[in-house]
Amino acid sequence: DNTTAATNLTDGMHILTESLMANGVSKMYGVVGIPVTDFARIAQAKGIRYIGMRHEADAGNAAAAEGFLTGKPGVFLTVSAPGFLNGITPLKEATENGWPCIMIGGSSTRNLVDMGEGDYEGLDQMNFAKPFCKASFRVDNLEDIPLAVARAMRIALSGRPGGVYIDFPGETMGLSMDADAAKAMIYTVNDPCPAMVPSQTSVDTAMKLLAGAKNPWIILGKGAAYAQADEEIQNFIHATGIPFQPMSMAKGLLPDDDPLATLSCRGLAMRTADVVLLVGARLNWMLQFGKGKKWNPDVKFIQIEIDPAEIDNSRYIDAPIVGDIKSTMKMMNEALKTTPVKASAEWQQLLAADIAKNDARFAGKTASSEVPMNHYNALGAVKKVMDKNHDVYLVNEGANTLDDCRDIVNQYLPRHRLDCGTWGVMGVGLGYAIGAAVTTGKPVVSIHGDSAFGFDGMEVETICRFHLPVTVMVLNNGGIYRGDFENLGTDGDPSPLTLDATAHYEKMMEAFGGKGYFATTPDEVEQMLAEAIASKQPCMINVQLSVHAGVESGHIGNLNPKPVTGPL
Ligand code: ADP
Ligand code: MG
Repeated sequence: DNTTAATNLTDGMHILTESLMANGVSKMYGVVGIPVTDFARIAQAKGIRYIGMRHEADAGNAAAAEGFLTGKPGVFLTVSAPGFLNGITPLKEATENGWPCIMIGGSSTRNLVDMGEGDYEGLDQMNFAKPFCKASFRVDNLEDIPLAVARAMRIALSGRPGGVYIDFPGETMGLSMDADAAKAMIYTVNDPCPAMVPSQTSVDTAMKLLAGAKNPWIILGKGAAYAQADEEIQNFIHATGIPFQPMSMAKGLLPDDDPLATLSCRGLAMRTADVVLLVGARLNWMLQFGKGKKWNPDVKFIQIEIDPAEIDNSRYIDAPIVGDIKSTMKMMNEALKTTPVKASAEWQQLLAADIAKNDARFAGKTASSEVPMNHYNALGAVKKVMDKNHDVYLVNEGANTLDDCRDIVNQYLPRHRLDCGTWGVMGVGLGYAIGAAVTTGKPVVSIHGDSAFGFDGMEVETICRFHLPVTVMVLNNGGIYRGDFENLGTDGDPSPLTLDATAHYEKMMEAFGGKGYFATTPDEVEQMLAEAIASKQPCMINVQLSVHAGVESGHIGNLNPKPVTGPL
């Protein structure tokens, strides 16, 4: 009869929730509104932890961070049109970074959108998303929901990981069907990220090249961190004694203070290495595309890479190994038995001498007690605290704040540093910090330049609302790059780079119930940061720097075009 039939119905929102849960999704970040509000309520009621945030870009970044840290896609939710567009930026950034991430966007009425009749927040979201992620699907039928989730999981995780968009029209959410029939449709995707074992020939060729090298060098990228092949990589480096360079998010795969780490002699290693083994690192702008005057002109490259299309992307690769890093490093460790590889003491000592020289030069700057502070001595104080808290996650964005923190603050554990990433962007920090805190339950220190903080500062409220153990630190030098630039015109406005050097950012944390600190000396930075981390409560430390501290564009000022004429 009708009564029984009516009570045994389910809808699109329940089916999507159950499909996500069947595939291991336990958290969702987002901002609700028409048409996704009830979906978020239902997901929460059913047991998906819902982290309501203040901007979709931050929700997307939190999900992306979860993807990097766990190797499972983070999931985030947006409303239609503007919320959707705000979510596209982090989805593309996750895709650029090679991190699995699934965006679910509510959307408006199909026929009105397709006819351009002017629906509320009407936008052809599925098609707009396509260039910005690995795949984009729209679910128009309830039967398609489990399939969309399964395909999103598989595509986000397999090959080079990345973002997937699922468009979820309001109409589909409200469709109904028999609950038992719906239950029967739901399934768990089978082996979404299978091992991709490379050919033995490619491994043998690479091993031969490495064994014949005079100055072998290993570059570990964030793909190596993501691959969770920590032990295989550590074993290979320990067995061969090959010096290694961790790219910023590979820092900690081996401790940064390992004698073979080339962090402070990267330039010399680039000029002198003759065989370079790339492990999950691309020869993009961060490595000068593997060519040009910074590199040894005769350098040969071995590249371990999951994506075959990446090989030869910017230059000839002598020994490509297409496969996953875990399988490959296992085979390379095995191959050491028949093809021993040992870096020479001569090469190790050449680099070690340069490291000692550069470290000594740096030490004076980071230990200085000069006030107002600059990036070096403020971050020197941060380093002291982080050296005693290896399991604290570090998020870092800015220009000088990014470059100097990466150079000064050591990492000791894999996947404990999140930063601007492949595009070198700002505005990812608090999203990453929230994602890291929610995912790991561990304390997070999130260090931002004052400009970078401005993009997502409102998430301080989210940190407080969820009582997350996040310490936000702003290094305030009063501007983009620096606070002492002048308006070159006559209207008396601040310069395009100027921000408020006297702002009390820490009061934002106090406004939402967290603890605020204002630090003006390196000793205060050290003591306040130690206290904030230990409290496991939302805290914010506003670090007053000199407006003269910092250089334009940090370490990448060369990327600015040079004006031919004009006031500069
Ligand atoms: P970084 O910026 O740290 O140098 P990149 O993001 O440029 O690192 O490079 C990471 C590379 O690692 C990407 O090309 C990606 O396809 C690759 N990658 C990611 N996961 C794996 C894996 N499991 N096995 C092999 N390669 C991987
Ligand atoms: Mg600044």
